[in-house]
Amino acid sequence: ARLNNDFQFLDVGRQDPSKKDIETRRRNFVEIYQPFAKEEVEGQAHRCLECGNPYCEWKCPVHNFIPNWLKLISEGNIFEAAELSHQTNSLPEVCGRVCPQDRLCEGACTLNDGFGAVTIGNAEKYITDTAFAMGWKPDMSKVVWTNKKVAVIGAGPAGIGCADVLVRNGVKPVVFDKYPEIGGLLTFGIPEFKLEKSVMSRRREIFTEMGIEFRLNTEVGKDITMEELLRDYDAVFMGMGTYTYMKGGFPGEDLPGVYDALPFLVANVNRNLGFEKSPEDFISVAGKKVVVLGGGDTAMDCNRTSIRQGAATVTCAYRRDEENMPGSKREVANAKEEGVQFLYNRQPVAVVGNGKVEGVKVVTTQMGEPDEKGRRSPVVVPGSEEILPADVVLIAFGFRPSPQPWFETNGVKVNSWGGVVAPEQQQFKFQTSNPKVFAGGDMVRGSDLVVTAIWEGREAAEGILDYLEV
Ligand code: FAD
Ligand code: SF4
Repeated sequence: ARLNNDFQFLDVGRQDPSKKDIETRRRNFVEIYQPFAKEEVEGQAHRCLECGNPYCEWKCPVHNFIPNWLKLISEGNIFEAAELSHQTNSLPEVCGRVCPQDRLCEGACTLNDGFGAVTIGNAEKYITDTAFAMGWKPDMSKVVWTNKKVAVIGAGPAGIGCADVLVRNGVKPVVFDKYPEIGGLLTFGIPEFKLEKSVMSRRREIFTEMGIEFRLNTEVGKDITMEELLRDYDAVFMGMGTYTYMKGGFPGEDLPGVYDALPFLVANVNRNLGFEKSPEDFISVAGKKVVVLGGGDTAMDCNRTSIRQGAATVTCAYRRDEENMPGSKREVANAKEEGVQFLYNRQPVAVVGNGKVEGVKVVTTQMGEPDEKGRRSPVVVPGSEEILPADVVLIAFGFRPSPQPWFETNGVKVNSWGGVVAPEQQQFKFQTSNPKVFAGGDMVRGSDLVVTAIWEGREAAEGILDYLEV
């Protein structure tokens, strides 16, 4: 009866998988969502209207075949769903967990208009997790191997996306990363409560079996040179991310107790994963009053990591209103549930303290008139200064690229803000000014999303295949 019900979306409401209890969430670095049960996910998938012109699919940066795999789920056909899901995405179970679906597929879903969007993200995660648990592996039986090999710098989503498409086309990818595990920010950035690290180690095994070689703990420019890569490989792909921390440019930013977001998050991951080199690297906020500055995904992750470390209070100050926060709405809601206090329309003007942090001076802002792009900038309310008490301040203002001296010496040009120039629209997609070198992900487009990095890596691989005439 279920499969014949065209009005399932009326009879069954949108439902997300249940979350773990709040005490578990506030103390542990584990994913907060329970997996969907089979009956639940089938019922949710069957709510899909199978729109002739699926907006969800268009809005998705990798154009996942969403209605098609939802149908396969509702029919219980998980292996076919997994095969289809991997045709457009190299890490579907990761996107299912960390994409801001409210802004992408689910935001665009026809049913988002009063009925409740189909729960696409959690269905996507279910497909691959379940298929792997049932022994499914990507089908490599039809791959015809060429004698070409490509060096990939960076095992983040861009590098992985590129390597995945190359290996499926018979080109050998050798992926270099300076970190001891694959994933880039998926491992050394995004915390476990959004994405448990076993997901990436499982992926490393699957990719290795598919024929991708990983050379971890190997930094290009230090342990091996770009010149060697250009000599020994048919092409090079760069997916190195953005790692220059943006500063606020206000007094007191150098006081002891002020930290950049990423070192704080990475030290926490390193401790949890056993990668910590020295106990001094760990930044503990246990028992402390923490103020997080910023309103994006990184700020949310700092907030929620601080809660789990046992901070006395966690306050997140953001200079725009809630509506204009760039972070995923789902994660803002999760942060509130876990006890983070939000102060909107507060702009930091100084970190204050005598030899160490004692507070953050903020002013209240109001939203001004929209600019030509429609984005409204904050305007300061006169006389609104106040001091937020703090023992620790975490700065999450975003990232800029970190161009290396060896880019220029190897003919790889960067633009005015340090992004590598590698346009999509040209004969060989994402080729840089050195014809043998391609690039994609955050280092080309600026800090963005996991899914856009995957997409650029995959598209760049198409460019490389054309260039190599494979
Ligand atoms: P990265 O993931 O940064 O990977 C680059 C890799 O290159 C790294 O592993 C690095 O070690 C390696 N590398 C760099 N230089 C060298 C070298 N010289 N030699 C060898 N290896 C090198 N996006 C979302 O969609 N959802 C989220 O919830 C989300 N949360 C985020 C939370 C945080 C804290 C941060 C910082 C970002 C978040 N993002 C999120 C953004 C997302 O993680 C990035 O957009 C994405 O990871 C970019 O992928 P990338 O492959 O371009 O770069
Ligand atoms: Fe199904 Fe929503 Fe996509 Fe339509 S927009 S195909 S209802 S998931």
